[in-house]
Amino acid sequence: MSPSDHSPPLPLSRRWHWASQQAISFLMQQGIENPQVLSLAAGFVDPATLPVAEVQRVANEILGHVDSGRAALQYGTTAGSETLRRALIQHLAHLEKIPSDRLGITHEQLLLTTGSQQLLSILSEVLVDPEDIVLVAAPTYFVYLGTLEGVGARVVSVPTDAQGMIPEELDRLLAGFAQSGELPRVKLIYVVSYYDNPTGGSLAPDRREAVVQLARKWSRDHRICILEDAAYRELHYDGPTLPSLWSYDTSREFVILAQTFSKTFSPGLRTGYGILPRDLVGPLSDRKGNEDFGSAHLTQSILARIMQGGDYQHHVARLCHSYRRKRDAMLAAIDTHFAHLPGVHWERPHGGLYVWMTLPDEIQTGFQSQLFQHAVKQHKVMYVPGELFYAGPLESRRRTQMRLSYGILDESSLEEGIRRLAAAVRQQM
Ligand code: PMP
Repeated sequence: MSPSDHSPPLPLSRRWHWASQQAISFLMQQGIENPQVLSLAAGFVDPATLPVAEVQRVANEILGHVDSGRAALQYGTTAGSETLRRALIQHLAHLEKIPSDRLGITHEQLLLTTGSQQLLSILSEVLVDPEDIVLVAAPTYFVYLGTLEGVGARVVSVPTDAQGMIPEELDRLLAGFAQSGELPRVKLIYVVSYYDNPTGGSLAPDRREAVVQLARKWSRDHRICILEDAAYRELHYDGPTLPSLWSYDTSREFVILAQTFSKTFSPGLRTGYGILPRDLVGPLSDRKGNEDFGSAHLTQSILARIMQGGDYQHHVARLCHSYRRKRDAMLAAIDTHFAHLPGVHWERPHGGLYVWMTLPDEIQTGFQSQLFQHAVKQHKVMYVPGELFYAGPLESRRRTQMRLSYGILDESSLEEGIRRLAAAVRQQM
């Protein structure tokens, strides 16, 4: 008899129930159980590009002096290192292509978090009560869908095309909520604005302005905020550089801009940040105070020096060069192995880490599908099923898409991975 037979049941919370059974765990488990598999699934950054030497040098500088070493090993503040926050304001000005004194914000509106995931999470907790409505693109970043489930949100999908979320559809949905009396429940519009995860696409410039204006238009009795997740902004390989949604919000009241060092430098340093409307700074700091009263101070001290010394900019330039080649390798392999397969479509991203592929209607791609099972067990290749990126019941989602990442594999493994995947797809035809 196991001890648990005598144990009274564990009274887990509703919050736990909402947060359980996240697909990410299953996906990672598949990777561990099938070590021979070439993973086009993981959205990880390329291990070969991780800045070991830069971080070692800077860590030595900090720890090589007792005073700076002690300071870095002490607690920091809830908002995070002031030096890093000031450096990031300069960096934002550079990205926005305006002088920092014209940004209309100060470093006090910049909150450092444990990855941008913590910002996404605490923002959702601070703004969203159970049953409140959050509007998202369809498809969208699946980890955030899990975060929203975790706070009990009602997630509503906005129809989306190759240019991103369709503003007319967003307007129609908001008008519907106004009519049904549910507008007060609408709290947030979530947009991955650059080289989206999963589609690799970016919201078109005119739509950026339109989405900001719609948030304003429907903010009748309360503010409807936009969470602009710009995780991939700096991984830009070609095509025009696009203005942020944040730049269209001249009041600086509606858009929360989330960015991260995870994709451009090192996810292991777990540092992201949010640019916040002034009146959100207090509430988010309160929530973060409950959680950890400050992210890792040593990490922030390292990043502050990396930003100030110019290492960061050099690193990002090298990274973009390397990812551009890997993107081209993946697209060339897809052209070779998929072009003659009828009914298969894919997008050509200008940045980020992902290619989004749509298969003919009769080929499902989910974890339980024949394609996924055969791809992993027989052909030794893995992708992320597209259905994970949609909200709502499984039956109502598109189930014939795949997210393919050129993040971790090198060019020849990418070519081999795509060859294997095409063989698996052909088998289903
Ligand atoms: N947003 C998007 C769109 C992402 O793809 C990711 C990472 N996969 C994140 C946010 C969170 O990353 P981090 O917490 O490492 O900053």
